[in-house]
Amino acid sequence: MRFDDLNLHQSLTKAIKELKYEVPTSIQQQAIPIILNKKDVLGSAQTGTGKTAAFALPILHHLINQGNSSRKIKTLVVTPTRELAIQIAENFTLYSKYTNITNTVIFGGVKQGSQTDRLKKGVDILVATPGRLLDLMGQGYISLKDISFFVLDEADRMLDMGFINDVKKILEKLPTNRQSLFFSATMPKNIIEFSNKILRNPEKVIAHKTSTTANTIKQFLYFTNKSTKKDLLFHILRNNDIKQILVFSRTKHGADRIVRNLKKKNINSAAIHGDKSQNQRQKTLKDFKDNNLRVLVATDIAARGIDIDQLNYVLNYDIPNEAETYVHRIGRCGRAGNKGISISISEPEENVYVKAIEKLIGKKIEIVSEQPFKQTEKPMNAQQKKEFEKEKNRKKQEFFKNRKKKR
Ligand code: AMP
Repeated sequence: MRFDDLNLHQSLTKAIKELKYEVPTSIQQQAIPIILNKKDVLGSAQTGTGKTAAFALPILHHLINQGNSSRKIKTLVVTPTRELAIQIAENFTLYSKYTNITNTVIFGGVKQGSQTDRLKKGVDILVATPGRLLDLMGQGYISLKDISFFVLDEADRMLDMGFINDVKKILEKLPTNRQSLFFSATMPKNIIEFSNKILRNPEKVIAHKTSTTANTIKQFLYFTNKSTKKDLLFHILRNNDIKQILVFSRTKHGADRIVRNLKKKNINSAAIHGDKSQNQRQKTLKDFKDNNLRVLVATDIAARGIDIDQLNYVLNYDIPNEAETYVHRIGRCGRAGNKGISISISEPEENVYVKAIEKLIGKKIEIVSEQPFKQTEKPMNAQQKKEFEKEKNRKKQEFFKNRKKKR
């Protein structure tokens, strides 16, 4: 199937051609005809599958055909994070290049002035995070009464991040006569129940299961010790083929520590996580996208919304204890048909997680045995683990005690 077969408005196919999208992705092939047919959609899809175009293109098609340029908000997309909101709005802008349809994006953590100025001028499509949306609705800058298309994006994350009540409040203000599209990376029972409150006779579409890793991604594994991870990372980064790499860290502190170590070796790097301000995060992302940063270190939450087209390398500095997280992480490279390489480094305590991942993805990850920092230690036994935890707690308490004293 090609984009021409989807019967989208020619101004959209023209924009898509310029973006060099040739073949619609699986979710696009499934969802676009349903949305064009004015039916609700329950979509199981994560970022990286082409989900945004799957809803943005048919919505734009309808808006073009409605020909109503009253600049009242007719489409609302609600998404959990600022990064995702910005990306979705950017995609709408790209796809609507040859139309007169306008969009804007609003999110919290920044002053509202420029957002409300833009809203006052009138806009067709609004992309928003829930908190700021409610806030500006409360202040009278936004009315949802003309909405005919509503998209709830990343619903599972929305619930994880505690936005359920906000979304419920938004739903109360939406007209009942509307088309709704609901996307979530995972579909546990509570998400399906939630979707029932929003959708009417939806058609289900599934991009692909989270247990599948794209065949375009080559996966490698290094076994090492906790104490040699840092050196192993430097060793891996000696490979000049790695022009840019996204490194995952389980914790914010861990991410900062990795960056500190890399900087000591003059490796151009920065971290992105929840403790960084909105401006810092945006700047870091831009630096990475513009190739001014070689290494971007991210936590899982911060990274899930990052849309980097040309990323070829992903490195797991720690092995996630949830196997699905591994699938999400390595899905950041090799997107939309590009080649990707994922590298994981496992310390003894993490070897069990590797096993769980291999079980989930249904294959063995290729071990790199030619390397200078091989794993020599064994995972701790129960008694050692207990002592290790005890010692860790003692150190933590000591740290807080000293900090109190200093104050
Ligand atoms: P998304 O899942 O919406 O975050 O999209 C992932 C990336 O794939 C984005 O950078 C899109 O620009 C790109 N993309 C979406 N659809 C296609 C397509 N049919 N062909 C090539 N690239 C695409």
